[in-house]
Amino acid sequence: MSRKQLYDFMGNKCQYCDTSVQELYDRYDTVNRMFEFHHIKPELKSPNYSKLIKNKLSTIKLEELEKCVLLCAQCHKILHAQNQEATIEFKFTIKEQVVTKKLSGWIITDNLAKTKKFITNEAHLLHPYLIKTSGKEFLVFHFQILDNPSILTDEISKLLPNTSVSINSYITGANVFTAERENHDLTLSIHPMLGLFQIEPAQSSKREKFWYRNGIYIDDNKVDFNRSIIVKSKFNDLKFEPL
Ligand SMILES: [Zn+2]
Ligand SMILES: [Zn+2]
Repeated sequence: MSRKQLYDFMGNKCQYCDTSVQELYDRYDTVNRMFEFHHIKPELKSPNYSKLIKNKLSTIKLEELEKCVLLCAQCHKILHAQNQEATIEFKFTIKEQVVTKKLSGWIITDNLAKTKKFITNEAHLLHPYLIKTSGKEFLVFHFQILDNPSILTDEISKLLPNTSVSINSYITGANVFTAERENHDLTLSIHPMLGLFQIEPAQSSKREKFWYRNGIYIDDNKVDFNRSIIVKSKFNDLKFEPL
């Protein structure tokens, strides 16, 4: 996993000031020492972090990166100098259903711009989805599926032959997920917008080694934020882990 691919996976820019990795590279021919990873929860930092970060692409490495945000060296220093850890609670009401979500992160205050910016690595997608199965519909929220994956896994495990489960955005109607059972075969079609599943190389086909995490596709050559994937498995072998 090259340094460039690492930055690609982390969004390619400083999460505070938006300074682009590519732009600095074009300007100076190097980005050495210009970008750093900040652990949102420092207590979760792996003791083997410096070794891990140099290793090749692996599940454990991706898990470590997901604990972090990418910052330029200056913003990283400002963040630690101001040292403002914070949690923010979001509240969202739809169809009389009220949902809340707490996020952990850090604040950087700019007195001249009169701004406070909250920096987090956590998903804050308060997006409503409709899960449809034969004859039933559930309105669920993105992070509630995350917090309580059993709604979806239960519905998939109860699928009868030649039926399907689908998830559409409640707002746009766009389909973001389908599980179709044909006798003993199961096909999952996953759109990156859902950002729900983690698929490991053991589950991907032998020839093609890839990871799919939070809607991001990654293999030894590239990182792709816009890629839908299709996973085929035997119905009874189904093993997938919602994040
Ligand atoms: Zn910055
Ligand atoms: Zn830090």
